[in-house]
Amino acid sequence: MRKLEELPFHNTYARLPEDFYSRLAPTPFSKPAYLVSFNADAAALIDLDPNEAARPEFVEYFSGSRPLPGSEPVAMLYSGHQFGHYVPRLGDGRAILLGEVRNRAGERWDLHLKGAGQTPYSRDGDGRAVLRSTIREYLCSEAMHGLGIPTTRGLCIVGSEEEVLREEGVETGAMLVRMAPTHVRFGSFEVFYYRRQYDHLAKLADYVIAEQFPHLAGAGDRHPRLLLEVVVRTAHLMAKWQAVGFAHGVMNTDNMSIVGVTLDYGPFGFLDDYNPGFICNHSDHGGRYAFHRQPDIGHWNLHALAQALLPLMTEEQAKEALAAYEPALVAHYKDLMRQKLGLMEWRSEDGDLLTGLLEIMQAGHVDYPSAFRALGDCRSDPSDANESLRALFLDRAAFDAWATRYRGRLRAEGSRDVERKQRMNRVNPKYVLRNYLVQLAITQATEKKDFTEVGRLLDLLRDPFAERPDMERYAAPPPDWGKRIVVSCSS
Ligand code: AMP
Ligand code: MG
Repeated sequence: MRKLEELPFHNTYARLPEDFYSRLAPTPFSKPAYLVSFNADAAALIDLDPNEAARPEFVEYFSGSRPLPGSEPVAMLYSGHQFGHYVPRLGDGRAILLGEVRNRAGERWDLHLKGAGQTPYSRDGDGRAVLRSTIREYLCSEAMHGLGIPTTRGLCIVGSEEEVLREEGVETGAMLVRMAPTHVRFGSFEVFYYRRQYDHLAKLADYVIAEQFPHLAGAGDRHPRLLLEVVVRTAHLMAKWQAVGFAHGVMNTDNMSIVGVTLDYGPFGFLDDYNPGFICNHSDHGGRYAFHRQPDIGHWNLHALAQALLPLMTEEQAKEALAAYEPALVAHYKDLMRQKLGLMEWRSEDGDLLTGLLEIMQAGHVDYPSAFRALGDCRSDPSDANESLRALFLDRAAFDAWATRYRGRLRAEGSRDVERKQRMNRVNPKYVLRNYLVQLAITQATEKKDFTEVGRLLDLLRDPFAERPDMERYAAPPPDWGKRIVVSCSS
């Protein structure tokens, strides 16, 4: 285990041409900083000794008041399509890539400090992040990891008394240390395409290949093959979001990771009651990023990426790569839903079985995570009444009819109740980061400077599949006040 000063930095991104970023140091808070939360799981990814979090230097390093030895801080340049419109100059407006650490297993991790002050890409922004939004991102990224969904990770949150003005009023500033295999986004490519800097485009593609897709290095067709891999990874990510009921909220191309991990958590939301048209972003008036549109938007975003990569490949090659999207998405989604239903194999009639369930869930506003978890208790015996599962559905007759079909389907493959339930409990989470849960943690943190709830959720969501009798209440659907939480982009 390493001390902070022993982290082995490599900083390959800072070796790229100067056009790719701006070198600058983070701006420390104007008021004293303190540790809000530390995540030992993420620290382990960079071989960092968890005891290091107790040193006063830890907060100094991760709030920008002391440079980490060996790091080369830069703000990364990118552009992107926001709500369908191209915005030529974005970049890290409030985040700084401190550097890259390679762990003993050879994996590389970017250390990214979000809320680190203004950069040349800040436009009118203050370069800060507020405690509320850093808690949301930190907890959600760890919750997603616990669910087995590729994501950036959260190493720690550092808070301060510095005042930050947002739509909601005066808030306190905070910084989040985020880790990712790379922070290169679709928008990192788009910026060089629209600037016609095609040499840079090729350099970036080769950089991403060398760092993240080394098996493609040197191949003559490495660029179309890179696109194909991004297409497939993105398709798989979308399938995972849909299966678990996660809505990202701001799927702009600058928030799309080139390695297919969930990136930039803003006004995200997990489905409580099953509503495919769910819009979690208060500012998304047209519902562009509504839950059920995510698979299409993923495709739209890949199209924007493919367009940007055209100088590196033929149109034919780009089209061929994009054509892999739908089959990859559908196959993965089916596979995930098959597992959620506890089936061993996907049969032609199972699409109808699934749709039938989702329809009665939608009509009856049935809680999505609770219903799938409870489905594990369904027995294949036709006389099984299962009142607790049945009670979740408003339209009991519709549910009974569906359950009869389902039990028949289970018997048709000789499914064994006990073993199936175990399998289902490993894919249907007991706990998800519902908006009301994160809201309670935020209120406690911002009003009382009490971070116990943040720590409790972090601990609970590391393994959202385990039964935790002492934490049973965290599995509950939201109380009435918790159903109406609106989250804006302001963060
Ligand atoms: P986001 O909606 O967080 O993905 O941000 C979109 C763009 O605005 C990115 O370039 C961000 O870096 C930038 N940005 C967001 N909030 C701020 C802020 N408070 N100060 C400066 N730049 C910001
Ligand atoms: Mg962003």
